[in-house]
Amino acid sequence: MTFLNKYQRSREAFRRACRIIPGGVNSPARAFGGVGGEPIVIERGQGAYIWDIDGNQYIDYVGSWGPLILGHAHPAVVAAIEQAARKGTSFGAPTEAETELAELICRAIPNVEMIRLVNSGTEAAMSAIRLARGYTRRERIIKFAGCYHGHVDSLLVQAGSSATTLGVPNSLGVTSGSTADTICLHYNDTAAVEQAFAQFGSTIAGVILEPIVGNMGVVLPTRDFLQAVRDETRRYGALLIYDEVMTGFRVAWGGAQEYLGKLGLQPAEGPDLVVLGKIIGGGLPVGAYGGRAEIMKFVAPVGPVFQAGTLSGNPIAVASGLATLRELERTRPYEYLEQLSRRLCEGLSEICHRLDLPHQIQRAGSMWTLFFNEQPVSDYRIAIHSHTKRFARFFWAMLERGVYLPCSQFEAAFISAAHGEREIDATLAVARQALAECLENY
Ligand SMILES: *Cc1c(COP(=O)(O)O)cnc(C)c1O
Repeated sequence: MTFLNKYQRSREAFRRACRIIPGGVNSPARAFGGVGGEPIVIERGQGAYIWDIDGNQYIDYVGSWGPLILGHAHPAVVAAIEQAARKGTSFGAPTEAETELAELICRAIPNVEMIRLVNSGTEAAMSAIRLARGYTRRERIIKFAGCYHGHVDSLLVQAGSSATTLGVPNSLGVTSGSTADTICLHYNDTAAVEQAFAQFGSTIAGVILEPIVGNMGVVLPTRDFLQAVRDETRRYGALLIYDEVMTGFRVAWGGAQEYLGKLGLQPAEGPDLVVLGKIIGGGLPVGAYGGRAEIMKFVAPVGPVFQAGTLSGNPIAVASGLATLRELERTRPYEYLEQLSRRLCEGLSEICHRLDLPHQIQRAGSMWTLFFNEQPVSDYRIAIHSHTKRFARFFWAMLERGVYLPCSQFEAAFISAAHGEREIDATLAVARQALAECLENY
């Protein structure tokens, strides 16, 4: 079989899509732009595996870019979706399940007393920003280069994720007006945070950040940085917003606050608002923003900050999220995920060392990135100096051998509870060949 034949159907399906959908995809991260070439087209997934329409099988480390912590087509999640669908798809009226999901999230995530469900992480981040501005009656927002908060206009400044991969960290079509009140600083740059507050403090509504970054690859915060952000926001009356769309229910049951707390990196006082998505929908579209009740009571219809959604709290999406979170609460796979992830990352590191391949493996729980970089990656400036051509070579060498990684150096990879030592060891065996091949070629 030639290389071309192996992906024949994907090639044809993708070209057909390209004629009618811009770039052939409904979200740019899927287009393989960061590694060159064309995406495989997926037919189905089960557990830790996906299959493309040519029938090739892959161990999946994308997990729909984060939501599928239980793996593909988990029986409890599928059953919940089926059951909900039989009762009707949407009512535009309250259901009990929405409250149950809200209660479950508030129980798990520290400092979330009230919550509003929306349809995506983007919507949640956008609404949290609006709320912070409404609550403080101020306009400026601080964000950090390489952090991604969805495609919200005012936050599409030096955004991570596919904006970085495609080299358009600042999108056309975003007016200078909509970013005029956005201050973009470098992650882990404590002095810059203090300086920005010294200069603009009384006009800053809030600071939004990924408490553990996943969208320039995995980058951890320093203790000083998070503490400074909390101190300065408190001192000047600005809100601190944790964007936990990726880390919520991923790195720990209590999200980044719990995970960082164990590492001694989380300040004693938590964030004022938390933005969620991905896992809380279990593979269906759900986002949420929540926080202190006093702040959340500013949201309509009880407060003056408007935010709405025809399909928000959709019964099928909520059923999928609830089933996922209940399964996580019952099985608490986090220690298991930690062990598996450590096994994989230590294995990869050992292979790189043997090959004398400069690299950094950066990980938080079951999210990880193998950076082809000489330096530890602590911010966007360092991240973008990674050897992206080598990453592309690695990506294709893995794909050809049946391992599906995120198609960009600047995206986190994920391990699910459906993965086992068998999949990890098979991945390491493949990586041994793939990484050696990278060196030969570059
Ligand atoms: C994925 C992601 C978003 C955007 O969520 P969508 O559901 O894609 O709109 C926002 N913030 C972070 C940290 C994310 O990882």
